[in-house]
Amino acid sequence: MREVTRLYSDRVVLGEGEALRVVAATLTLGPEQIEAVEEGLRREDALDLSGKLLTPAFVNAHTHVAMSAFRGIGGLASKRGNVVEELYFRLESALQSGDIRAFARMGAWEALLCGTGTVWDHYYGGYELVRALQDVGLGGAVAFTMQDLDGPGKRGAEAAAAVVQALDGDHEAAAQGIVPVLGPHATDTVSEQLWRDIADMAEGWDLPIHAHCAQSVDEVQRAWDRHGCSPVQWLERIGVLGVGSRVLLVHGLYVDDADLAVLAARNVALGFCPASQAWYDFPAHLRSWRAAGVPWVLGTDAGACNDTMNIQAELRLPGLGDGFGPTWAPTHDAVRAGGGRAAAVAQHQARQDWFSGGQDTLGPAQVLASVWATPGALHSRMRCGVLQPGARADVVAWDLSHPSLWPALDPLHALVHGDAAPAIHAMWRGGRAVGQIGDFHGSLLRSEAFRAHRVEAAERLERLLGRVGLR
Ligand SMILES: [Zn+2]
Repeated sequence: MREVTRLYSDRVVLGEGEALRVVAATLTLGPEQIEAVEEGLRREDALDLSGKLLTPAFVNAHTHVAMSAFRGIGGLASKRGNVVEELYFRLESALQSGDIRAFARMGAWEALLCGTGTVWDHYYGGYELVRALQDVGLGGAVAFTMQDLDGPGKRGAEAAAAVVQALDGDHEAAAQGIVPVLGPHATDTVSEQLWRDIADMAEGWDLPIHAHCAQSVDEVQRAWDRHGCSPVQWLERIGVLGVGSRVLLVHGLYVDDADLAVLAARNVALGFCPASQAWYDFPAHLRSWRAAGVPWVLGTDAGACNDTMNIQAELRLPGLGDGFGPTWAPTHDAVRAGGGRAAAVAQHQARQDWFSGGQDTLGPAQVLASVWATPGALHSRMRCGVLQPGARADVVAWDLSHPSLWPALDPLHALVHGDAAPAIHAMWRGGRAVGQIGDFHGSLLRSEAFRAHRVEAAERLERLLGRVGLR
């Protein structure tokens, strides 16, 4: 008889998109997928988790887990008079065999400890990234960065394509929830020919494409100089957006309404990484993406530009971010200029207008869709982010009596706006408990694997910093 795990709770999050409901149910988890969901039924042989909220594990739709090793390095670099971007290039060019695996494990541990089951990663190093995810037990839709015009992966495009094929035939990795994705770096670092080749591979192999697009003013200017149009219009013109598989374009800071119309018509998803974008440029204009009907997903981006791999910490930003709008409105210039009573009234009215224009419609279920069902449906080989038969058996049990979530009168609101990670009671990946039930964080942090990984990563980082003259 095959081994299955049965979990029961009176609070299981079923449904997807905006139609989430919290109900009593028994989940039957197989070694890879959820085998059954029995709503309203309590099976005798199920582990009773009553009072705990059972949800799908999170999907972090854009990150570079290996770059957690560069967290805070901007400050270190500026002391030496270096420019951060030059420094990343120098660091990435000085990486040695084994470094990416060691650094990626640390980012993967952080993601796992925050209830993430799957990361959409995009980086160099080929199979080292896959091995790191396997070492830790994290799932991944892994894009091996391809670029031929500029960047550290230049000349590595053919090798990256070979790794994609190897991973596509790797059944052990697939069973662990690790699947390949095509990863062109961006519109200004990848030639038209390579983009066309990648589109053909996506079509032929039925794999999604994950790329950066309209992420910097430099990229936008290069698109206009080279092609006479925006990055999105160029990708549409050369056929990339019309491939049969899904396309995920991340950042989209400079997309206009015409771009959004194209993306909506092509069902292309945009990736929103609010904290990272606020550091590097500015947060994307999510409100217009939503108005245009473009599917959107949430990511942390890298530890080097966000400082956390905790996707749950981003959940409050899509809604709360709107609250910063009135701070920068012209009406507040009038308040500070001494406009008195009338200026205060005008500022408050601007705030009311701002909120009625979108904030009140972005409820917890819509935000959670950006880390559950929407990214969980991007890959044809792996459904995740939803508790239904056939989806990955990646489940998190949240302790609603933990001070960080209590009293959880609206558990989905608490999950979006609270600091939920400390309240993880247990987690299952591929139907198997991760660490100890009831001592999730402690058992992982005390594990031999984690401690060995931390020692190796620290030693390798010291040597890397020495090689580039930062020690
Ligand atoms: Zn990125």
